[in-house]
Amino acid sequence: MSTDPIQLSRRGLMLVLSSPSGAGKSTLARLLLSEERELILSISVTTRQRRPSEVDGQHYHFIGEPAFLRMRDNGELLESAEVHGNYYGTPREPVETALAEGRDVLFDIDWQGTEQLAANESLSGDLVRVFVLPPNFSELKARLERRAEDSTDTIKKRLGNSRTEIGKWTQYDYVIVNEDLGETFPMLRAILRAERMRRERVVGLSEFVDGLLQQAGEMIEGPASAAAEPIAEPVAEPGSTPDAEPGSTPDAEPVGEPAVEPGEEGSEP
Ligand code: 5GP
Repeated sequence: MSTDPIQLSRRGLMLVLSSPSGAGKSTLARLLLSEERELILSISVTTRQRRPSEVDGQHYHFIGEPAFLRMRDNGELLESAEVHGNYYGTPREPVETALAEGRDVLFDIDWQGTEQLAANESLSGDLVRVFVLPPNFSELKARLERRAEDSTDTIKKRLGNSRTEIGKWTQYDYVIVNEDLGETFPMLRAILRAERMRRERVVGLSEFVDGLLQQAGEMIEGPASAAAEPIAEPVAEPGSTPDAEPGSTPDAEPVGEPAVEPGEEGSEP
């Protein structure tokens, strides 16, 4: 009977956080990044003016419009959009590298960018979309004004755009109402942790289950009948849906072999 060590690993996932300005998404993102070592932030390029509190290369890569358009037209951006009158985009290469290494990537992008990622067949299986809402509209306004880093005009424009943004909530897998960070943050973390364990993301699970069933056959029926009568379901073709039967392969190609054993990732909150 085989007693080989369990060889389970998983593909990296793409966690998208979107919200209208002032819903508290950036704070949630910062907390999550500080607690989850396997999660890295996708640092966007933008043509927006840098705020006094922002660091180039850390919050964004601040670039001019010609450089942005060049990157976009050269296919160097995974997605891009005009938001509140400025261009924003996700550089492709760092994301592809991180996913290939089996790491998770966090995206703080708007609904337009999220739509583009979801439409990309080679990425959509790795996408987890979370939408953050404020508890009420006056809180949204108050948070925008408290930040005091944008002009009155900018705040007005962002508030105006928030109606369109809020209207996109059904495009997301999860919606969190961010009233109290102490409650919201554990929810977000729970989403990330559960999504990491989804069957389709675990590489080697089908072989593991086949091995278990082989052992079961040997123990229950004896070696000869186990060999004559396989119990495991046939392995489905790649491209099977997430609802496929146990024993199917993941529906997208594995992009890496991270050495992540179940229970190895960080400590519980
Ligand atoms: P802010 O100017 O407040 O940093 O961001 C404004 C909006 O642009 C936010 O909703 C933010 O999520 C979004 N955003 C930031 N980076 C990107 C990006 O690379 N792509 C897209 N589509 N939206 C982005």
